[in-house]
Amino acid sequence: MDADIVCVGFGPATAGFLTTLSRQLTNADGTPAVESAVMPGMPPQVLCYERADDIGFGVSGVVTRARALRASFPEIKTAGIPMAAPVGEEKVLYLLDPHGASRRSTALRLADSLIRAAKFALPVQNHALNLPWTPAFLRKHDGMILSMGQFMQWAGAQVQSTGTVQVWPGTPVGEALIEEKKVIGVRLVDQGVDKNGNPSDGFTPGMDIHAALTVIGDGPVGAIGRQLDAQFGLPGGKHTRDWAVGMKFVVDLPADTPLKPGTVLHTFGYPEPEIFGFLYVHPDRVASLGIFVPSWFDSPARTAYRYLQHWMLHPYLWRHLKGGRLRSWGAKTLGESGKHGEPRLAGDGYARIGEGSGTTNVLTGSGVDEAWATGTQLAEAVLELLKAKKPFTRQNLDETYVKRRRASWVEAEGRIAEKSRDGFQTGVATGMIGMALAGLTNGKLSLGSAPVQPWKRIPTVEDYFAGKISCDEIAKLRDECKTKNISLHGALMDKAGWPAIPFDGQLLVSHQDALLMGGKVQAPHGYADHVVFLHPELCEKCGARICIEACSGQAITPGETGVPAFDREKCVHCGACLWNCSQANPEDPERMNIAFRAGTGGLHSAEN
Ligand SMILES: Cc1cc2nc3c(=O)[nH]c(=O)nc-3n(C[C@H](O)[C@H](O)[C@H](O)COP(=O)(O)OP(=O)(O)OC[C@H]3O[C@@H](n4cnc5c(N)ncnc54)[C@H](O)[C@@H]3O)c2cc1C
Ligand code: SF4
Ligand code: SF4
Repeated sequence: MDADIVCVGFGPATAGFLTTLSRQLTNADGTPAVESAVMPGMPPQVLCYERADDIGFGVSGVVTRARALRASFPEIKTAGIPMAAPVGEEKVLYLLDPHGASRRSTALRLADSLIRAAKFALPVQNHALNLPWTPAFLRKHDGMILSMGQFMQWAGAQVQSTGTVQVWPGTPVGEALIEEKKVIGVRLVDQGVDKNGNPSDGFTPGMDIHAALTVIGDGPVGAIGRQLDAQFGLPGGKHTRDWAVGMKFVVDLPADTPLKPGTVLHTFGYPEPEIFGFLYVHPDRVASLGIFVPSWFDSPARTAYRYLQHWMLHPYLWRHLKGGRLRSWGAKTLGESGKHGEPRLAGDGYARIGEGSGTTNVLTGSGVDEAWATGTQLAEAVLELLKAKKPFTRQNLDETYVKRRRASWVEAEGRIAEKSRDGFQTGVATGMIGMALAGLTNGKLSLGSAPVQPWKRIPTVEDYFAGKISCDEIAKLRDECKTKNISLHGALMDKAGWPAIPFDGQLLVSHQDALLMGGKVQAPHGYADHVVFLHPELCEKCGARICIEACSGQAITPGETGVPAFDREKCVHCGACLWNCSQANPEDPERMNIAFRAGTGGLHSAEN
């Protein structure tokens, strides 16, 4: 099939692109403002393919200053968007460990003791220190709290109502079509295949869509962005080594909650010092809350789900959450490399926008606005080229899109943030000081060293729990968990002193119940597995097997052979397995032993 423009993924970046583009493809009288090359006399044919089963089935926070969103919708009012609220009170909290189970450095333990000793003179309440001052770079004053799912459905409806673009959910793009260093379109994934991709009942090969311009807005773990990185290489010195998995709940707060719509809480310090948390209050007693577990948390037993429950049970938060009810749940990877990971932004026949192109600002914790802004910059560039009848060559896209991007606030603020989190490579304290330094000096000062590949940071289970759990006990727990075909982290955390989770069937539910009740996870038949263990022999001799521990949906289990098993029907497509593997890929040590390909299914909730 032929089109003029084809887009990969419908996240905020592509929504920003299509919002700007779709409004200017026709004149007020309905005639084409610019003409299609494939359908003469018509406006350009613009198609967008989204892998999730519907628009807005992704995951995000979200609190945003909404600068780019307001530029696209000057009349935007939170009242017109479900679950939106203007930002109100903002707090940053340092959470002390009420159980003594987290792994804290000596310096942090000392700081905790000092805070506890001086708690009558400090704003300490329910084992939490309320920082007296929120740095300006973290503040979202005048911004909005949104449900990204609801906002994307709203934005998708606006885009499609113009009648000039088509968005197709449930349609993963399998690969970019590349001819002589030029991207000439995309190929959709095959349907009617078995789990290994071999033709089966109702086999339909993935359709080819040829287009003069392919727009890649497939997010931080998108397979098409990574295909282009592998094909064309990253610019010198760039790398994508910093990641975090963000896991969130959307909850009904108890009827008597004192939390007002617009409240923004950010936390650090607990359940582990490396884990950051957030709680944002929507209208009608609904809250979005969750944690980020980063790739620089050097634990082989990283689990976002269990840590999220311990975080909710922290006394400061639990007094607000007790009696609440789970509405929705999900997880997604956040690309934390920012400008460290910026790929080639444009080439012959293609352009990259959004988080996969290095837009997320890791200093301000902002990604939606930046992604949207780069989409609008590309749309303006595309309209300029279409009107001038110039082709989408690398040079023309550099002179229009990349030039706009370089001159924008996204670039200026991205540069300030570039090295702001390098301090976390050596520890939480240096990380926090480095962030403060970069934030307060506009990026002139920072701390730390360049990030290393995530697989290099993963210690053995025995080393990590040394002094807490003996090697013999670990061996016994391993055998027990293998027999039950479950991950090891639960048993390790129990042994290390973490209290049991008091399941209440409402808010504190098992991981499996979260999949069914909260994520409503589904996977249509007839598609290949999108998670593949590349070198089984490496899995067979792998000690840490962190892919099983970190899996957000319990979709990766020990399995019956030495190679883990993957269950597509539990996968939430968070992409965490892409970077949670302790073995380097022999063909590319920047990558690991798991392939995370484009696939269908996943979460069926548009609240996250
Ligand atoms: C838990 C969490 C909390 C966050 N909180 C905040 C916050 O408070 N404020 C903020 O500003 N930002 C926040 N972010 C970051 C923000 O969500 C991202 O920066 C933003 O969503 C990036 O937009 P994007 O369009 O570039 O990518 P994405 O939102 O990742 O969208 C990419 C889309 O492409 C689709 N796709 C991928 N591959 C394919 C394919 N092969 N074929 C078809 N479709 C494909 C995906 O399904 C997805 O819909 C948070 C992120 C997480 C995970
Ligand atoms: S995928 Fe990676 S972490 Fe998982 S078993 Fe294989 S080598 Fe180990
Ligand atoms: S298998 Fe699916 S749910 Fe598990 S980590 Fe990978 S993408 Fe996430």
